[in-house]
Amino acid sequence: MLTKDVFVTEYEKMLYSIFGDDFEESTIQEKYTALCALVKIFSGKRWHATRRKQEESGEKAVYYFSMEFLTGKFLRKNLEYLDVYDIAEEYFEERGVCMADLLDAEHEPGLGNGGLGRLAVAFLDSLSSLAMPGHGYGIRYEKGLFQQVIDNGAQREKPDSWLVEGNIWERKMYQEKLEVRFGGRILYIPKGGNKYTFKHVDYQTVYAVPYDIPVLGFRNDNVNTLRLWGAESKDDLNLVEFGKGNVCGAFEQINRVKSISQVLYPDDTTYDGKRLRLQQEYFLVSSGIQDILRNHLRLERPLAKLPEYVAIHINDTHPAMAVPELMRILMDEYNFEWEDAWRITVKTCAFTNHTLLAEAMETWDVGLYRELLPRIWQITEEINHRFVHALKSKYNVQDPAKLEKLSIIKNNAVHMVNIAIVGTHSINGVAKLHSDLLKDKELNHFYQIYPERFNNKTNGIIHRHWLLSANRGLTSLVRDLIGDDFMTNPRELHKLRAYEDDPAVLEEIAKIKHRNKVTMATYIHYTTGITVNPYSIFDMQAKRIHEYKRQLLNILHVMHLYKTLKANPNMDITPRTFVFAGKAAPGYYIAKEIIKLINTVAKTVNNDLTIKEKIKVVFLKNYNVSVATNMIPAADVSQQISTTTKEASGTSNMKYMMNGAITLATLDGANIEIRDEVGEENIVLFGLKADEIHELYRTGSYDSAALYNSDQVIRETVNSLISGEFHVSQEEFRAIYDTLVKYGDKFFVLKDFNDYKRAQATINDLYQDEKQWAAMSLRNTAASGVFSSDYTIQRYAKEIWNIKSLTDGKGW
Ligand SMILES: *Cc1c(COP(=O)(O)O)cnc(C)c1O
Repeated sequence: MLTKDVFVTEYEKMLYSIFGDDFEESTIQEKYTALCALVKIFSGKRWHATRRKQEESGEKAVYYFSMEFLTGKFLRKNLEYLDVYDIAEEYFEERGVCMADLLDAEHEPGLGNGGLGRLAVAFLDSLSSLAMPGHGYGIRYEKGLFQQVIDNGAQREKPDSWLVEGNIWERKMYQEKLEVRFGGRILYIPKGGNKYTFKHVDYQTVYAVPYDIPVLGFRNDNVNTLRLWGAESKDDLNLVEFGKGNVCGAFEQINRVKSISQVLYPDDTTYDGKRLRLQQEYFLVSSGIQDILRNHLRLERPLAKLPEYVAIHINDTHPAMAVPELMRILMDEYNFEWEDAWRITVKTCAFTNHTLLAEAMETWDVGLYRELLPRIWQITEEINHRFVHALKSKYNVQDPAKLEKLSIIKNNAVHMVNIAIVGTHSINGVAKLHSDLLKDKELNHFYQIYPERFNNKTNGIIHRHWLLSANRGLTSLVRDLIGDDFMTNPRELHKLRAYEDDPAVLEEIAKIKHRNKVTMATYIHYTTGITVNPYSIFDMQAKRIHEYKRQLLNILHVMHLYKTLKANPNMDITPRTFVFAGKAAPGYYIAKEIIKLINTVAKTVNNDLTIKEKIKVVFLKNYNVSVATNMIPAADVSQQISTTTKEASGTSNMKYMMNGAITLATLDGANIEIRDEVGEENIVLFGLKADEIHELYRTGSYDSAALYNSDQVIRETVNSLISGEFHVSQEEFRAIYDTLVKYGDKFFVLKDFNDYKRAQATINDLYQDEKQWAAMSLRNTAASGVFSSDYTIQRYAKEIWNIKSLTDGKGW
């Protein structure tokens, strides 16, 4: 494609044109900016052409609505997808500039909490790489997820001002702004024949201003769009107030409106019915739906045929108001009758459920919902009214308890899962177990009404990022062995199995992992000052800190191991480095205590010479996509140890597997499918099974205090939380102790402890046989291809959205 000569000429022109500087005199930041600008030129034409092509083809497109898009950095990805990364790297290294320094100049946008936001980005990436028409709608938060700093072992949050230097990848489209309305009253205007039109008055208008980010496909010509909305005030500065000397008052309205896109809520596992969050959700939904319809009409397509051109996807319940909003516009602005509008809405919209955690289920207080969104409230009420009526007449549901369960509005709250199921034609879970639990348990009442709506779409990951880009060493070996086909068809990775007994290949696998570990050790030293041994087992658990993910189980086991080593310093174990990373929601006290505990244990263990550096504990701060990208290729062990039934899918489990880590796991979420793919011998499992957990819940027979009292190892380990053994005041971790002993250990940490300990010993033993370990590693990479989000998207495209690729699927 692009030659190096052209690249160099164009790049140096760019430096002059933006900064009037040559290579020598420009700063790293300027070099970075010029390179981004060049990438935009290379991709801009394709972006434009993609839009034209998609419009002219008349093919259906999907619009993916998500409150979060955890993009990661853009520059490296875009260079790689345009196939100019190697050229650029060669050029910069020749001129004495390290590519890593250049890439470091980019600030990672933190527009997501974790898995849900990363999944949204994986889906956009796959849609574009498969040349499918598919675009994202989200919010351009001025402040992303907080920056985590560790102060004396404890998490402290700093605002993430990622936009201070602007975002070079976005294009502000002010002329395409839309109006979103809040508050006010609804007037009924008779139009004869017992019918009314509705007029919204006295509302407040907020401008939704689009910012477009190009989403490049991998080495094809396709560039889709991620459109993020920023809130701006329609009213300018209040000069009357300003004239009176009331400066704050003069800006009040502007600032109030701007707050809608000011900050991402830093919690994805508990729900908190905050007014601003409801505003954010409606802001996203209303601007997105208006935008879709505007575009549809501009192309002179009939609204009645919306489902033939448009699929709207609702990522978790956060954008579930897409249902009443689409109804509102069709009826109030385009005079559709209810029945017609409803048919269009249900056929257009589809919904993904992401969690079974009761505390994460969204409900809105009726008073707040009605006050902020009076017309949406009316429509929601009518949807519920008609649904309950249909339940009684069409589905013959008479049991009041059942009707109550199914109702959208009850106990003075609007239940968003209910509206998302009633108002869409498809509801999917994100892994087989999760989807089965939805059907058979949590949402069984809905399954009985709409069995055809329920389906599974197991999550996926961008193999281009987590393998091709993150692990160049392994990628290069794989290409040498099986050719390039796996790059576009990752299932081809299974061909690696042909080498599982080849000593030279296994040795090479071990060498690559070791090199990645050396790099990681340097990174650990640089960021934490801790020296770790790259010959030790790198055992990692990186994800949001949450009781259900059970970082506590991991660190309790470390504490046990340390105590055992201390009593017996010559014990023969393979040296191990336990690496943790993850942010805790700022208001989640126990999660923050767990971070403090990990760091406290780290301090003790890492500085105790008597255990001869057999174990080390590291907590890496500020976990994000970049940190994950550094960590995962260096992992020997991937800890996926959630309380069974609590982790809907997990996706980091897939990333580690692809990089050849051995998974240490409960049979939860997608871990089950990982086991099915790689085989029982190549994964280490432990813990309660789903049916056992359900049985314990049902009977209420788990007594953690009794277990604590009867099991000496457990008791001694748990006691060291409050004994001062880890250089803390004795009351420091009393709250954690209490969750385990006093409050019933809701996440079965103690119940699973002994089996976990056994599984960890198995890991230790397996690692003794280097060759076998490398073979297991190879088998994990070989079996990981099915978890590429390309396949997930192909299933969504075929089974839910009915969209197709606009090419023959081939790249350049
Ligand atoms: C993949 C990923 C996650 C999701 O991790 P889980 O272990 O599946 O919860 C969260 N954060 C980041 C930065 C990720 O890359």
